[in-house]
Amino acid sequence: MTEIDAALREGIIRTVEAQREDTVRLLQDLVRVPSVTGDEGAVQEVVAEAFRESGLAVERCEATPEQVSPHYGHVGVQTRFGNRPNVIGIRAGSGGGKAILLNAHMDTVENGDPGAWTQGPLSGAVADGRLYGRGSCDMKGGLATFVAALRALGELGVGLRGDVTVAATVGEEDGGVGALATILEGYRGDAALISEPTRLALVPAQAGSVVFRLKITGSAVHAAVRHRGVSAFEKFVPIFEDLRSLERERTAGISHPLFDAMEDKVPINVGIVRSGNWAVTVPESLEADIRVGMLPGEEVGALQVLLEERIAAVAALDPWLRGHPPEIEWFGGQTMPVEVPLDAPISGAVMRAHERVTGAAPAVEGVSYGADMRLFIHFGGMPCVMYGAGDVGWAHSADEHIIIDDLLTASKTIAFLLVDWCGVAGSTSGSP
Ligand SMILES: [Zn+2]
Repeated sequence: MTEIDAALREGIIRTVEAQREDTVRLLQDLVRVPSVTGDEGAVQEVVAEAFRESGLAVERCEATPEQVSPHYGHVGVQTRFGNRPNVIGIRAGSGGGKAILLNAHMDTVENGDPGAWTQGPLSGAVADGRLYGRGSCDMKGGLATFVAALRALGELGVGLRGDVTVAATVGEEDGGVGALATILEGYRGDAALISEPTRLALVPAQAGSVVFRLKITGSAVHAAVRHRGVSAFEKFVPIFEDLRSLERERTAGISHPLFDAMEDKVPINVGIVRSGNWAVTVPESLEADIRVGMLPGEEVGALQVLLEERIAAVAALDPWLRGHPPEIEWFGGQTMPVEVPLDAPISGAVMRAHERVTGAAPAVEGVSYGADMRLFIHFGGMPCVMYGAGDVGWAHSADEHIIIDDLLTASKTIAFLLVDWCGVAGSTSGSP
C-alpha cells in the first residue's frame, strides 16, 4: 500500500474535476464513431490519438486466425479479421513497482431501433448530467476514466514506479477475441482491471455458462396417421422438463455468497427450438440451442458431463430414444466462471481507492453476464476484477447513458488505484 498524503489526494480530486469537460469531450468523440463488433477500426484511431495526447506509447496488436483458432472453445468461432486492431497505450514506470493492465472493450452492440432513443445513439448528447449514446456506459466510458486518471497524474507530475498498460480491445460482445489476442501477444500486468459498468461496485466474481445444441430424431408421417410416426418435438418435452428440474436442483444446491441473492443464479435457457417443416407432417427432427449458467467453483467439463448424463437418463426411459439417442454438440464459447479472492491485493487496492474518493467502501458484487475477465485470469494468469461507472441495466438498451459525476468518481478511483498499486516514483513507500 502506498501512503497518499493530503496534498496528493486533494490534487488528484481537483485535477480530475478540472478536466471534466475534456473527459466528456473524449467520451463524446468515442461515442460518435460507431464501432459495432467487427467494425472497430475507426474508433480505434480515436483511441490511439487520445493515448498519444496523454503521453502514452501506442502499440497495436490484431488477432489472426492462426493465433486464436485453437481457442475457439473459449471465445467462439471468429470469422471477421482485418482492421480490428487492439490499441495498447503504455506508460512505462520508473521501476520497482507493480504493473497493472487496464482494459476496456471498444466494440458495441447494434444501435437497435433509432426511434426508441430520445437522444440519438451516436449523438453523445449531454442532458441532466448524463451522456447518451451507444457505448457510453458499455464501455467507452470506462476507457475515458483510464485516460482521465492518467491525464490527471501527468498534469500533477506524479511519476509511477510500475508500468501501466491500457488495452482498448475489440470483439468483447462476440466472445472476447480482442482481449484474447492482447493476452496471447504478451501484454500483462501484476493484475488487471476491466472498467465494465458495475455502478462503482467491485466485481471480483463472474458467472460462466455452457452452450449446447441438442438434436433429436423422430420419424415423419402424414399428420392424418400421426400415431404411426414419432414426433421429435414430443420426445423433446420430457428432456425440457428435466432441464427445468435440474435448474431447480442446482439453484437450491449451489451456493456462492456473491450470487445467492440472484433470482436467476444458475439459469437454464432454451433459446432456440427448431422442429418440423409443415403442419401436416409429424416433425422428424428437432434442434434446440440451450445455455446453462454456472457459478465460480464449478468446472466447465464437469457441468458438460452432468448435462450429458441427465439427458441420457431421460432418453433411457423412452424406447424410441433408446434406439435413437439425442445428440449433444458443444458449440460456441464455453465461458468458465472465475473469481478473485476478496483478500487478493488487487481487490483490496480497488476498495481502498474507492473509499479514498467516496469515503465509503464499495459494494462487492458478482455478475451473471459474460465479459473478458475470464480470459485475463485463465490465459493471462493475472488476477482480474471489474469496477466502473455506469449500469449494465442501461447497456444494450435504447438511451444507453452514463452519469457524468460517476464517470469522474471512477476516474478518481483509477488515479488513486494507480498511485497505490504502482507506487509513486521517487517515494520510499509503495508496493514493490
Ligand atoms: Zn461491456
